Amino acid sequence: EPSQLVRDGDLIPTPTPHIVILPSAGMGHLTVSTRLAAALVSHGCLVTLITPLPMVSEAESNCISNLCSSFPHIRLLELHLLPFDAPDVDPFLRQFESIRRSAALLEPLLVSVTPPVSALLTDVTVFSSVVPVTKALRIPIYMIFTTCASMLALVSTFPGIRKEAGDGPIESIDIPGVGTIPGSRIPRPLHDPKHLFTIQFVETGEAMLQADGILSNTFEALDGDILAALNAGAVVPGFPPVIAVGPQEPIKLRAAARPAVERDDWMAWLDAQPPKSVLYVAFGNRTAQSREQIKELGIGLEKSGCRFLWVVKSKIVDKDDDDGVELGELLGEGYLERVGERGVVVKSWVIQEEVLAHPSVGGYLSHGGGNSTFEAVLYGVPPLIWPGGGDQQMVAAQVEKRGVGVWIKEWGLCGVNQVSSDDVAKRVREMMEGDNAVGESVRRMQEEAVRGLGPGGSSYEGLRKFIAGVVERG
Ligand code: UDP
Ligand code: UDP
Repeated sequence: EPSQLVRDGDLIPTPTPHIVILPSAGMGHLTVSTRLAAALVSHGCLVTLITPLPMVSEAESNCISNLCSSFPHIRLLELHLLPFDAPDVDPFLRQFESIRRSAALLEPLLVSVTPPVSALLTDVTVFSSVVPVTKALRIPIYMIFTTCASMLALVSTFPGIRKEAGDGPIESIDIPGVGTIPGSRIPRPLHDPKHLFTIQFVETGEAMLQADGILSNTFEALDGDILAALNAGAVVPGFPPVIAVGPQEPIKLRAAARPAVERDDWMAWLDAQPPKSVLYVAFGNRTAQSREQIKELGIGLEKSGCRFLWVVKSKIVDKDDDDGVELGELLGEGYLERVGERGVVVKSWVIQEEVLAHPSVGGYLSHGGGNSTFEAVLYGVPPLIWPGGGDQQMVAAQVEKRGVGVWIKEWGLCGVNQVSSDDVAKRVREMMEGDNAVGESVRRMQEEAVRGLGPGGSSYEGLRKFIAGVVERG
């Protein structure tokens, strides 16, 4: 409860800093910004959140409403985006570009807001376009980085690597303090210098040195060695301070903010299952699967004989889910009847932290999104990772290195390669019925992550250090 922390007295920074946050698109990005907003309020800061409108998905709009009803003190400022028409581009990537192209519109907002802005925090995907605005206004700028530290090291070294490779693909990348990253592990668009994602990625890497600091959602127990290398300047000389403040905890929704109807169905079912017996299956907020793959995955889960809670996603943007295709049709005739009480399938948003926190959940078949994986660790649920695009293979590699999850390499890329029902059944059974050394390691890392978030812990103190730095500058 924020007021509790503030009432403790010594946490109130003086004078009260006014932190303005500009988030980006997609729940993987918005989630980190909103959790940080809540945490900063808890530490006694005044927080204004700029909302880029219109948003892409319903999940994002709901996230903002939930934040406002739970934290009425957070102020909202609307940024009305200039249109950016690119029908063939992924809708979230298109929105990153749209926010980037609208960055000049921030100036009047930042000038007029009161009290004056102490610092602007903005997401990695839009950071480079915001730098010129904050520099002109002499406002300190911090970057919010949403995922693991090896990915941060990749972005920071990538401009030079891209240049060296000319028009060709990237074979492998050696990063001091991180190691060798095979070309197959980096986000696929980065092999194409003309891809919009690559253009943004290179601009981000170039602009990073101008950050007054980087707030990263990762944490010492997972990424300590790479964070140390970044902060020693071993990756890029003169790199701004990276402060690990993660994994930021989900916002506790007030009862009024909870979508009760959606929750009740699966929660009641989960309550009735034995401890750690259920596999949670979900692939984040922007990974859609083909109808063939959905059927095959379903048959695999059925064959595994394990209990499961599966979030099916057949469309990239949730608004498109209202396409008249019923769940029964997606899964194949008779599927739900055959599975019966052993599994629950939903085709809508679930409150993932409540699933992962539930004592019946004992494993998580995931795409390895940064947030989802950090959440799995935070709740002590071993992830079985089938990574696809973006940071997902980098996350899978780090999790594997630490022994806190399993990367299913032979399945190829989620969303690209097809996996058969037999392979699904085999891996799921191994995870749910195996000896569970991974489970033990996850629970140890969970303890460290939770400790890091409390007073005296590395992430907690990191956030305080950031706030103290902002106050000092002001
Ligand atoms: N999420 C959720 N319910 C869903 C799907 C996703 O709460 O039904 C949340 C999940 O907990 C995570 C975020 O959405 O916080 C997804 O971010 P992540 O970085 O894991 O993956 P992305 O969706 O960006 O690939
Ligand atoms: N990244 C980016 N844009 C940049 C620089 C870096 O998106 O200009 C990083 C970002 O932190 C993320 C990954 O590249 O981890 C992009 O992954 P993806 O497209 O899957 O997006 P996400 O799942 O994070 O929404």
